Amino acid sequence: MRLTIVHPCIGRRVGQRYIRSWQMEPLPAARLAGLTPPDVSISFHDDRMERIPFDAPCDLVAISVETYTAKRAYQIASEYRKRGVPVVMGGFHATLCPRETARYAEHVVTGDADEAWPEFLDDFRAGRARKFYHGAVGKSLSHARYDRSIYAGKRYLPIALVETARGCNRKCDFCAIQSFFRRTHVRRPVAEVVDEIRQQARRARVFFFVDDNFVTDRARAWEFLVELTKLNIRWITQMSIDAAHDEDFLALMARSGCEGVLIGFESLDPRTLRGVNKGFALMKGGYDAAMKNLTRHGIRIYGTFIFGNDEDGPESFEAALDFAIRHRFYVAAFNHLTPFPGTPLYERLRREGRLTMPSWWLDDDYRYNMVPFRPRRMTPEAVRAHCVNARKRFYSPVSMIRRGFSRINMGSAFMFRHFFPINIMHRLEISVRDGLPLGDAAWRGELLEADGA
Ligand code: SF4
Repeated sequence: MRLTIVHPCIGRRVGQRYIRSWQMEPLPAARLAGLTPPDVSISFHDDRMERIPFDAPCDLVAISVETYTAKRAYQIASEYRKRGVPVVMGGFHATLCPRETARYAEHVVTGDADEAWPEFLDDFRAGRARKFYHGAVGKSLSHARYDRSIYAGKRYLPIALVETARGCNRKCDFCAIQSFFRRTHVRRPVAEVVDEIRQQARRARVFFFVDDNFVTDRARAWEFLVELTKLNIRWITQMSIDAAHDEDFLALMARSGCEGVLIGFESLDPRTLRGVNKGFALMKGGYDAAMKNLTRHGIRIYGTFIFGNDEDGPESFEAALDFAIRHRFYVAAFNHLTPFPGTPLYERLRREGRLTMPSWWLDDDYRYNMVPFRPRRMTPEAVRAHCVNARKRFYSPVSMIRRGFSRINMGSAFMFRHFFPINIMHRLEISVRDGLPLGDAAWRGELLEADGA
């Protein structure tokens, strides 16, 4: 049997062939390949970097779908459907919008693929595959396998993506992770992750632990960090800010090679944080105290903010920008609040009649950065413009110099060497992404629905 796995891009303008800039390995594709029996031959195509050979013979196409890539995924599925090849979809969007996804896929796998994917493949090969397969979330991740051989010949950044845990038990109302994982969190066995890191260490200059929230189970994360101190690697991850008040934990993170963390600050307004169920971010002196601790331990910050919350006005952008520059963030993101389907935020905005584009991810008029709902204090366009402006100012030459030549960002020769290239790439991305259509704008034809949709 021949399986084709496709990683869809977000979108493409007319005349633009591929977005080639700084792509990371798509770990979900390697996970799916790792779950596939060895007698199935696998081809993998990354739509962000290469043309998909739609006419190459295959028996089944698998696409992991996120909300931002849904439209492109449905276009790709239509191309294969024209050629009589069935398509199976899974991932976040397929789980949070299964009925929509089922219109464009012969089969849909919701939830975690770990058990559902092998069951589906067995049924598919026996000619009895159902429309839906539901994978349980929050189950053991023992013996998880990732087949990275599918990346061969593709030029990804030399960053090894490794999953040490999955899910998060917080309930921030805008977050699709808590909706998908139903607030469960599972860590992989330490010995298995350590083995995987050892295998990857030769090719990777830095590891990215892609966990949704690395510190959800701090006691188990501690056990992992102790083992990590023996491996002499550099790593970064994503975590919630509560762990930044645990100085012993931060010291161990630093000792084990942590170079930086991505933290979702979201807002500096306590009312907003409480309103979105992120009041825990205000604990023990809040962000300023947390930042002092992180800086003291030499942990650099990729901070993210979201705007368009009910309390947000133009001053919110100024405050966030000032905070990010004052604390010498290595990089930062200034994004609008996004109503992902299936989240409490989406339901709230829908109930309040504030969604201007209820299916924004499929709307032909939607463009990247557009705000598809009515914020309370600003117009959607003003939120968009302020986000873009905040990015431009954060990545301005003056800001880069102030942040780059700071004690925290010069504290690691490795991170300092990459500071300016990374910041310049982010600066260039601002205009590349602003106004990007979702889906391939040059694609012609109707989205073809699957039989029995
Ligand atoms: S802490 Fe982070 S991952 Fe967890 S629910 Fe909140 S935003 Fe999502």
